[in-house]
Amino acid sequence: MSGIIIDHEKCILCRKCLRACPVSALEMANGRICVKDLCNLCTMCVDACPKGAISLAAAEAAYDDRSSGIWLYAQVSESGLCKVSCELVSKAAELAAEAKARSGELCEVTALLPSGDAEMASELISCGADSVLYCDHAYLRTGDPDAAAAWIVSLVQERHPGILLFPATVSGREIAPACAAMLGTGLTADCTSLQVDRESGLLHQTRPAFGGNLMATIVCPGSRPQMATVREGVFPVRRREDPAGSATIEEAPFPGNFLPRRSIRAVLQEAADSYDVTKAEKLVVVGRGIGSKKNLPLMREFADRIGAGLGCSRPLVEAGWCEYSHQVGQTGHSVAPKLLISIGVSGAIQHLAGIAGAEKIIAINTDAKAPIFGAADYGIVGDCISVVKDFLTK
Ligand SMILES: Cc1cc2nc3c(=O)[nH]c(=O)nc-3n(C[C@H](O)[C@H](O)[C@H](O)COP(=O)(O)OP(=O)(O)OC[C@H]3O[C@@H](n4cnc5c(N)ncnc54)[C@H](O)[C@@H]3O)c2cc1C
Repeated sequence: MSGIIIDHEKCILCRKCLRACPVSALEMANGRICVKDLCNLCTMCVDACPKGAISLAAAEAAYDDRSSGIWLYAQVSESGLCKVSCELVSKAAELAAEAKARSGELCEVTALLPSGDAEMASELISCGADSVLYCDHAYLRTGDPDAAAAWIVSLVQERHPGILLFPATVSGREIAPACAAMLGTGLTADCTSLQVDRESGLLHQTRPAFGGNLMATIVCPGSRPQMATVREGVFPVRRREDPAGSATIEEAPFPGNFLPRRSIRAVLQEAADSYDVTKAEKLVVVGRGIGSKKNLPLMREFADRIGAGLGCSRPLVEAGWCEYSHQVGQTGHSVAPKLLISIGVSGAIQHLAGIAGAEKIIAINTDAKAPIFGAADYGIVGDCISVVKDFLTK
């Protein structure tokens, strides 16, 4: 459904809107300008119309204005509640506080927990959920993304959340677009920052764009819920400070009209490199500034000495010095350690996108103007090999 409205009384059929539309979503039919379904609401036609006959005004009111509250999909794996679910609920609680500070109205955080248990629900509450909706149904237990989407959509249509967040995991990336399509709303994938705008109250969804060369902030003014997926490790897990006494856990029924399109017989785990750079609480991240592969053992020794894991920038993976499982950044892994020591890394935007969740960053670089120092809490300008050797000999 398009939100573009054409006032045919004012329209003089000059066709300037047809020429302005970048996706050919306008056409002449029966002597009138009509809007096709492929309209993406870019509003180029609104600007092009010399008579002010085209507007987006009705689109802004197209959603159900009872929409309120922030929902998130809490992913569960064979080993329990995924850490990213706690990251998402912590962020949702922060956004709810921002929304409340803006409007003065309570904004509730609801976690959707498919096939979980009471312990997982309590964990979500301890990270900031005001309520948990769960469902223990055979279709959800098989991990069928269609089933998860059907359950979520039925709840959204009944209760109208304002914001709906998903983890940008393999299954989150499958379920979220299915929900967005069924709900007729937008979806911003792989966000690295989320904020409630003080003026409009809209969710500002920021993600890398154009190959990571700039950060784009996207809003969804014309439909609800405002939907985003969020990468793992971007937001820290926080525990709620207020008492969670009034938090509720409610069973939400699975839709009776769901017809499965597939039958899942088994879920096979792909054998993978066992190293998980996202789990380290302390992390040493090395870049091209370490000079050569032969300096890697020195960096490993340093990391071991301080009890840290080892991560790297992308060029080290491309050069075959390190495995991909160690890569940090936009096309690698997002990490959120308590302490990150960045060694010989310039701090390109694609690298910084992966370390935004780190609590404290110490950077070592010979170039005092390297962008990494803009992200660091402490910096050492100097040769990293000497700095690390000095440390190890003390
Ligand atoms: C679409 C896209 C996705 C990308 N994804 C990622 C990603 O996920 N992760 C990632 O890391 N990159 C990614 N990149 C690449 C990114 O743009 C940078 O090229 C990369 O991060 C640079 O790595 P680096 O800092 O190790 O190397 P360089 O940019 O070469 O920087 C080396 C740094 O070391 C310093 N240095 C040199 N000698 C010393 C010394 N002796 N002691 C101390 N410091 C020294 C230099 O001053 C310099 O700042 C991506 C790029 C694109 C286009």
